[in-house]
This record gives sequence, C-alpha cells and structure tokens, in this order.
Amino acid sequence: MPTARRFAVPLLVPLLVAVTLILSTVAYLLGGSPLGRERGVTYADAPADGRNSPITVVVIDAGHGGEDGGASSASGVVEKNVNLSVAFALRDLFEVAGIPVVMTRTEDVLLYDRNVDFQGRKKVLDLAARRLIAEKVAQEASEEGGASLFISIHMNAFPAPQYSGMQVWYGAGDPTSKEIADGIQAASLTLMPDNRRKTKVAGSNIYLLDHIKTPAVLVECGFLSNPAEAERLATKTYQRAVAVAIFAGAMG
Ligand SMILES: [Zn+2]
Repeated sequence: MPTARRFAVPLLVPLLVAVTLILSTVAYLLGGSPLGRERGVTYADAPADGRNSPITVVVIDAGHGGEDGGASSASGVVEKNVNLSVAFALRDLFEVAGIPVVMTRTEDVLLYDRNVDFQGRKKVLDLAARRLIAEKVAQEASEEGGASLFISIHMNAFPAPQYSGMQVWYGAGDPTSKEIADGIQAASLTLMPDNRRKTKVAGSNIYLLDHIKTPAVLVECGFLSNPAEAERLATKTYQRAVAVAIFAGAMG
C-alpha cells in the first residue's frame, strides 16, 4: 500500500475513501442517495519526495461531447452524457478530499476552435485541445513541486452484447500510470465482482494516453452494448458508484 504518498494529502484520506466507498455501496444496494456532502474539508499538503512528486491536481476528461456522442446503447443511452455525469461525480470526490480538479469539459461540446478551418478535423482538434489542457496543468503542477493525474472517462461498446465490466487503460509515459490503473481496475471489483478484465497499456490507438507524459489513465466504465449494464450506467446512483470505485482505486 504505497499510497498516502501518491497524492499530496495525509492519512485521513484512506479513511475518507473507506467511508465514501461503504456509503456509496450501501446506497447503491439500497437504491438510495449516496455520498454525503462534506465540502470545505481540506488537508495540508504532504512534502514532495523528489523523485516521485505527489499528485497535487487531477485533470478529469469526459470523453466525446457535442456532435460526437461516442458509443450508444440500443435503448438510446449516449456515451458523452454518461461520461460527463461520471466525471462530475468524480470531481466532487476529489474536491472533498482537498485535491483540486480541472475538467476538460463541463458542457456538451467538442473542444475545437470555431475560428479555424475545422472541417473534417473536429475530432483531431478536440483531442489536441484536451492534450493541451492536460499538459498545461502538468506543467503548472511540476513548477510547484507536484504532479498532475489525467483521468479520461469513457464507455465501451462491442458488437456482441454479452460483454460487460470496467476496463482501465494506462499511458506508458509515467510508471505511476500503471499503478493507478491497477488500483482502479481492482476497485471495480467492489462494484462488479465478476469483472476479470486486466489493465492494458495504451499505444497509438489512444491518442491522449500515448502523448501525455504524466500519470494518465483512461477508464472504460462499462459496455453500453450490454443492455443490462447500459441501463445501470444511465442511473445517477450507479454513475456515482462508478466514480467512487475510480476515486478509491486512484487514491490507493
Ligand atoms: Zn469513448
């Protein structure tokens, strides 16, 4: 358990994680409202330990947006919307833990400059804009002796409907990425005990993870092509439970 060091927050955090995880799981099982609000709680920074700077800020990237809906379920659940809901829930958790968050988007938009000739290049420009945000935050964090963690939120889809479960990808640019991805993949078992998926390293198939050189993971939260999982993923309670698993896994 290497962890209080991973983030610039002290030992209260594992306790907070445990409490939120239990509350959220219980709430999910009971179908009630999860996660109490504890806004305003802050924790003193832990000292940087040089070689592995503590994570002092998190970039949360809700995949797709605007005219790019991403995957969708047969029943009409659209990936971009679920991504954003999970991203908001995840942001709330990090903020409760006293860790600042930067969102690549908070609205239903793709991130490209409308003033340039974007015809046919919207997606390329969008990904470049997300990368720029991640790199700018990373640069600012490192200037203050910290590091940033990039977490991209997506939903999966596959032609055959039986596949389900969370799948976590990590970037090869920083060894911490795998550690965090493994943590999130393991935490997914609290929510989906039968999930046997293992983390995978991203290559050029995932532009952002391939280019961002700081700790970076991409979470495919579940399969919209699986009718039962798509139905769960469309509910706020399950979205929050997914966010808690990602948060708990990232915190270690
Ligand atoms: Zn996606």
